[in-house]
Amino acid sequence: MTLPRVILKPRRARPFYNRHPWVFSGAIGRVEGEPQAGCQADLFSQEGEFIGRGLYNPDSNIRLRLYSWEPEEQLDERFWSERIDQATELRRQLFPTWSDHTAFRLVYSEADGLSGLTVDRYGDWLIVQLTSLALASQQELLVQLLNDKLRPAGIWLRTEKGIAELEGLSLTDGPLAGAAPPRPLFIEEHGIRFGVDIVEGQKTGFYLDQRENRAAAAGYCRNRRVLDAFCYSGGFGISALKLGGAKQVLALDVSEAALALARENSALNDLRGSIEFKKADAFSALQELHDAGERFDAVVLDPPKMTRHRAGLKQALRAYHNLNEMAVHLLNPGGMLVTCNCSGLISTDDFILTLAGVATATGRRIRILESRGAAPDHPAGVQCLETSYLQCIICHVE
Ligand code: SAH
Repeated sequence: MTLPRVILKPRRARPFYNRHPWVFSGAIGRVEGEPQAGCQADLFSQEGEFIGRGLYNPDSNIRLRLYSWEPEEQLDERFWSERIDQATELRRQLFPTWSDHTAFRLVYSEADGLSGLTVDRYGDWLIVQLTSLALASQQELLVQLLNDKLRPAGIWLRTEKGIAELEGLSLTDGPLAGAAPPRPLFIEEHGIRFGVDIVEGQKTGFYLDQRENRAAAAGYCRNRRVLDAFCYSGGFGISALKLGGAKQVLALDVSEAALALARENSALNDLRGSIEFKKADAFSALQELHDAGERFDAVVLDPPKMTRHRAGLKQALRAYHNLNEMAVHLLNPGGMLVTCNCSGLISTDDFILTLAGVATATGRRIRILESRGAAPDHPAGVQCLETSYLQCIICHVE
């Protein structure tokens, strides 16, 4: 079978020999044949050498997503089935005893060789996100494979904002198979129960990527007064109390829906007396708390992504600086700063440079005790470093 050919411009082949899966339109010299949206196409160098095989999308800036570097390999049912098995096998190693309440990322897009597909498992339910037209065109097959292999009670589709513009893809949230999930659905993390709204909650319902960081941060909170400035459904604050033996937590979020979940989760864990929730914009609330003379022994900063584009980088770095500076001002001497960055465009080095700037500006010595990433069920593919998007730096502030 001869597939349509995507031929690169001269000297543009190196990332793809290194198995980066995104072929941007700007790297392409010409296309031979007439590949339709979602169809297979082969990538060739200018010199006519086969590089890889992928799925084509004329409406995306990522014109071709590569899945195989073997000229003999077909992107057929067996291929997708094997990729799902490989992803599942890793999670079986990470979570040898899956229970009805275990939640983790089962498939993580490029890191699992499935660019544009993520699957999160929440107990008996699977949440599928399709972020490429390429794999959306395989939706039926992928859902059937997931259903056959994992036998979930139901599979639910969640969509990401902006995907229609990026990929020319129109999808609507809803059931793909089986029963609709209960709301809330209960999961357990490090022995703590959380109610999750996988239908309307943020992300796919819970920030699974911060699982191990919540436990690590909790380890520094014994008898401490903690500020959880972007609390969502209460993850860091509740872990600090339940796992870490924190004395008291103040938890902030701008979203009333998030706070409602967080309040329910604190009640679920009998924490009502030791955690206070407040609807507030952290950027102004931190300053107000400072002015009111409030001080904390630990501050957790887990803000949302600050930029999606290079053009917003400078402003994002300034926002991280301001936020962290305010947090340091709120810390008693010897306090802990747990500071996260999920803006993939800001590297660990740049984030740490920002913290250096904060140390200078505040005259406080800041030392990194732990530099952490996403939980291991969100692995980083070394050939696609875009999959490494999260830092959680735990600092001691003198
Ligand atoms: N730490 C949480 C996840 C935080 S996600 C966990 O472990 O589950 C980021 C949260 O910040 C979201 O809940 C969002 O509603 C909230 N948020 C966004 N902008 C904010 C702001 N300016 N002030 C306070 N919260 C904000």
